[in-house]
Amino acid sequence: MKRDSLVFNLINDELERQRHGIELIASENFTSAQVLEAAGSCLTNKYAEGYPSKRYYGGCEVVDKVETIAINRLKELFGAEYANVQPHSGAQANAAVFLAVLKPGDNILGFDLSHGGHLSHGSSVNFSGKHFTPHFYGVEKETGLIDMDKVEAKAKEVMPKLIVCGASAYSREWDYKRFRSIADEVGALLLADIAHPAGLIASGHLKNPIQDCHIVTSTTHKTLRGPRGGIIMMGKDFENPWGRKTKKGNPIMMSSILNSGVFPGMQGGPLEHIIAAKAIAFGEALDPSFKEYGAQVIKNAQVMAKELIAKGYDIISGGTDNHLMLIDLRSKGLTGKLAEKALVAADITINKNMVPFDTQSPFVTSGIRVGTAAITSRGFKESDCLEVVKWIDRVLNAPENEENINTVRAEVNKYMEKFSLYPNL
Ligand SMILES: *Cc1c(COP(=O)(O)O)cnc(C)c1O
Repeated sequence: MKRDSLVFNLINDELERQRHGIELIASENFTSAQVLEAAGSCLTNKYAEGYPSKRYYGGCEVVDKVETIAINRLKELFGAEYANVQPHSGAQANAAVFLAVLKPGDNILGFDLSHGGHLSHGSSVNFSGKHFTPHFYGVEKETGLIDMDKVEAKAKEVMPKLIVCGASAYSREWDYKRFRSIADEVGALLLADIAHPAGLIASGHLKNPIQDCHIVTSTTHKTLRGPRGGIIMMGKDFENPWGRKTKKGNPIMMSSILNSGVFPGMQGGPLEHIIAAKAIAFGEALDPSFKEYGAQVIKNAQVMAKELIAKGYDIISGGTDNHLMLIDLRSKGLTGKLAEKALVAADITINKNMVPFDTQSPFVTSGIRVGTAAITSRGFKESDCLEVVKWIDRVLNAPENEENINTVRAEVNKYMEKFSLYPNL
């Protein structure tokens, strides 16, 4: 077959786009070259339904070793006793957990999507909201922070079977211990979804929920800087709380209930090429250099937040503890939609985002979300982040001035030439 230049030219266009732009989408990152290589490897050809040494297909000796390395490295990274590396994505990791621990219609309590939560935590348009009965907690209007007393009151009111903590656009630390005491009080299981801060937790800069929460899910491609995928972990395995027994009369452990939730519950064959890439990424995250990376991500975010505030921008909760911040643009008379269009035209990629108590629709929004995981992987330090804020401010001060946008874009493209990305591609 002839090489498919139609598609490969587009892949190359995307590589050039990534090289020239400033990537501020908080959920994105740049994997290492070896992670990319593994993700594009011949392991994609292998069917391996089941788990290492318990497969439904022959010829799994090699992928068994790969998956076992991924599992062991992940356990070491978070101090987990159990890990499942097969979920194809963060949303599927959550769906597998919900399927494993809930019955249709059960009450769940999660963080409000319109305050920064995730679709897969009970949104009415998602599996989690269609098959279960969702209830939500949110942030306070004045502070932008979660009031744990209100979470407790809500939990007592709705008596959920599962409480979910974790978010897609919350810039502050989570009180996992308090969440656990609330969960214990109402007899709920507690799930922490660390899709966003996973890399900052793994590198020791944010609190690790693994011992406080019954179950932890995550993506592997955000701050954890691996291939696109999901994971499920437990700090400690435990007997299922519903008294389910094996045929021999032994209690069934949660590890086997969660494994069944992923396969055969939610998925068929695992993506062993992606699992190999996950194994490599977990190895990178165990390296001491990843600790420095995490520290720089947070420093960069805090410098940006401070500088944006100095320029009159309204940051929800007044700052950040992690890699991201939510900017309320109402004080600037802008919508998220317009800001996104103008910044993307200047090759500064961000996403529009609802802010808590937003007065605009999800398609327009009053805010944008900005994160520093990707630019830090490109090599940005604090001084580079100050330049980024200057460009953002110049664009947002005249978001419909094309000449202004073009000037900024030219400066951005020139600046990015200094920060190489995949030089061997
Ligand atoms: C990104 C995210 C997910 C979903 O990840 P996908 O890989 O896109 O399915 C789940 N939960 C939270 C909190 C997220 O931020």
